[in-house]
Amino acid sequence: MPHKVVVTRRLPGGWVEELRKVAEVDLWEGESPAPRDWILERVVDADGILVTLVDRVDRELIDRAKRLKVISTYSVGYDHIDVAYARSKGITVTHTPEVLTEATADLIFGLLLAVARRIVEGDRLIREGNWNKPWSPEFMLGKEVYGSTLGIVGMGRIGRAVARRAKGFDMRVIYYSRRKHEEVDYEYVDLDTLLRESDFVVLTVDLNPETYHLIDYEKLSKMKRTAFLVNASRGAVVKEDDLVRALKEGLIAGAALDVFEREPIGKDHPLAQLPNVVLTPHIGSATRETRERMAEVAVRNLILALEGRKPLYEVP
Ligand code: NAP
Repeated sequence: MPHKVVVTRRLPGGWVEELRKVAEVDLWEGESPAPRDWILERVVDADGILVTLVDRVDRELIDRAKRLKVISTYSVGYDHIDVAYARSKGITVTHTPEVLTEATADLIFGLLLAVARRIVEGDRLIREGNWNKPWSPEFMLGKEVYGSTLGIVGMGRIGRAVARRAKGFDMRVIYYSRRKHEEVDYEYVDLDTLLRESDFVVLTVDLNPETYHLIDYEKLSKMKRTAFLVNASRGAVVKEDDLVRALKEGLIAGAALDVFEREPIGKDHPLAQLPNVVLTPHIGSATRETRERMAEVAVRNLILALEGRKPLYEVP
């Protein structure tokens, strides 16, 4: 086999088998992420590596990998990779955008509906045996989604897919990004205006030095007290301690979160103590169909780059 590659996780579909047709594959078969030492040992003579977002690809790893031509991540986000350093070593970095956009937008909309209409809270109430009064006009009132204002922070692929869903709910869509996107006809506003006017603030930025802790106490205090925050981008876009404080003080009405500063979180996490918060365990792209497509793209990216051809999606 001309190439040696390291794959840090089993992937759905038969794509690792495809990879075995063109490369010698060192695959971590465990249920938990590959230990860092396992990766560091194997990357020494690898031509390619296929990682997930839990594998930190930093200078130490890149320096060990003297033959590395390509880092293919099984994710759209690449904040776990030192892309600039990899590039300085002539290494191509690839990712899996587009194929996960719609599944992630579906989950975001699900989170938004769940927190606005208290769906999870209602389910919990029944399971705990506390639905013990007949129907009542003022029982478990939530926030109307239809016709409300949605503020999207980061009008990228997923942001646009969320906006399309919002149109079906007759929502007014406003957005903030570093630039106005001429390809969409939603209202472009500055971040303060978005925070002030939105009933739902949805974060769909990538994590980068500018978006790290973009939403802190000061920003949260600009939101309406009746508004909700939805985050399925990366946990560190929100300063989590500040969010907990804002929720406790009633600065905002609630939050729905798929991502956290340190994952996984347990049942003792401060966010898990709050009734007006909906939590999911980083499952934005977690549908069978999407995860198989991501495997295909990640493997094809790897093979193309190993063969010196243009990968499907190189990190910008
Ligand atoms: P994308 O198309 O690159 O969208 C990101 C958007 O954020 C772009 O429009 C970007 O550029 C904007 N942005 C970047 N920095 C900004 C800043 N400082 N201020 C305002 N806007 C900024 O990426 P995507 O495919 O939509 O994915 C977005 C992120 O979602 C990924 O990076 C990943 O972290 C996360 N994600 C999470 C899950 C999950 O399981 N929860 C699944 C998939 C993706 P402009 O400012 O030029 O518009």
